[in-house]
Amino acid sequence: MADKDGQKQGDGGKGGVTEITPQSENFSQWYLDVVRRAELADYTEVKGCMAIRPYGYAIWELIQQAFDKRFKATGHVNAYFPLFIPANLLNKEKEHVEGFTPQVAWVTKGGDEDLAEPLAIRPTSEVIIGTLYAKWVKSWRDLPVLINQWANVVRWEKVTRPFLRTTEFLWQEGHTAHETADEAQEETMKILALYKECAETELAMPVVDGQKSESEKFAGASRTYSIEALMGDGRALQAGTSHNLGQNFAKAFGIQFQGRDKSVQHAWTTSWGVSTRLIGGIIMTHGDDNGLILPPRIAPYQVVIVPIPRGNWQETVLPKAKELKAALEAKGIRVFLDDRDSQTPGWKFAEWELRGVPLRMEIGPKDIEKSAVVVARRDTRTKDSMPMDGLVDAVAAKLDEIQAALLQRARTFREEHTTRVSSYDEFKSVMEGRPGFVIAGWCGSADCEAQIKADTQATLRNIPFGGADVKGTCVKCGKPSPSEAWFAKAY
Ligand SMILES: [Zn+2]
Repeated sequence: MADKDGQKQGDGGKGGVTEITPQSENFSQWYLDVVRRAELADYTEVKGCMAIRPYGYAIWELIQQAFDKRFKATGHVNAYFPLFIPANLLNKEKEHVEGFTPQVAWVTKGGDEDLAEPLAIRPTSEVIIGTLYAKWVKSWRDLPVLINQWANVVRWEKVTRPFLRTTEFLWQEGHTAHETADEAQEETMKILALYKECAETELAMPVVDGQKSESEKFAGASRTYSIEALMGDGRALQAGTSHNLGQNFAKAFGIQFQGRDKSVQHAWTTSWGVSTRLIGGIIMTHGDDNGLILPPRIAPYQVVIVPIPRGNWQETVLPKAKELKAALEAKGIRVFLDDRDSQTPGWKFAEWELRGVPLRMEIGPKDIEKSAVVVARRDTRTKDSMPMDGLVDAVAAKLDEIQAALLQRARTFREEHTTRVSSYDEFKSVMEGRPGFVIAGWCGSADCEAQIKADTQATLRNIPFGGADVKGTCVKCGKPSPSEAWFAKAY
């Protein structure tokens, strides 16, 4: 399913990968190796479609919970809409259909019979939801409608990579309808801010929030905003988008209401989404040559306990390890006790390091004598002996420390890989050399944007908030630039 699928022989249960290619040797192969070796996902018989394995899915569930909690706290509710979209509905919003047509999968038969009207498998649900909002919204009193859906969508992709770009993927799509243009814009911004806060707090992934250019905006939207993260290889990843759809979809699908002044008006709508792509973002933001590094808040296991099998360890060490596990879990910490006697401690250390568990706890007869345990941090790979007394609180504090350290490390990396340029030659030389974000003046013309992309492969990621007041000249044509834009090669 990927351009290079990392096929290596042996160790079938690990997806055929026995060791991880170093990042410096081949970052993209490193990524694929980590995905399979850490048992996050595997390839399937269906081209471009991955199976998300339990460990990967547990990460997704924690991401879901983090976002879902925030959606609900801001007044949104969840619902579910159909997988299929009749062809005539998809064709109603012109820009939308043009944007999505090349990627739509169609159902043309039901059993033996040809369908009278083909059904699209949803690439996104504006269309089907629009027709329902048209039924549900009658008066200004019915507004706002603030609904989110957790679902799968299908976009026919030619080149795919696990989590980053797959034909079927999981996501959430929020769809809201409002009484006024201002309220729709406020909602669009509120969600973008929510995405940024959640990505940084929970995923320890720093993001740049801003507005997309016309050429990069969502098909059918008035304005698209995004959060953009920088990956370990210097490429940008669009990590979430929030669209102000204006009245475009309301007009196409007849979402009308009687206003406070009794006049009939079209609603103002928004849509917004994040997807399983975030898992790819986490891998590439934090991982190293030893594998995955998971921020504690979204780690399925925050602590792994490895008992050291010496002497009659099953009577001495194991009960202590179980006691520790229970004490940590009582504090809400997610723990795995690896008491398999089929593997050596050394093997287990490497295995859990590869799978990104933030803290590893080693406990043997000597530690019990000293009433202490050895605690190893995944992010710094440092080891400390910690006293058993007060251990639970100390572990909780250490997890918070790791969470903060990962965000800080990623921020520092981004700062070191962000360059403000004033000439086009400088722009090109940065893109040819050490990749990352390039900040440059841009006149707003699609031609300059397209030329920059053709020359350097860099796309305009967004025009960050705050960058808007930095006036200068366009790095390509020299005309006045009302704002600065951030460019990067992107996934
Ligand atoms: Zn220009």
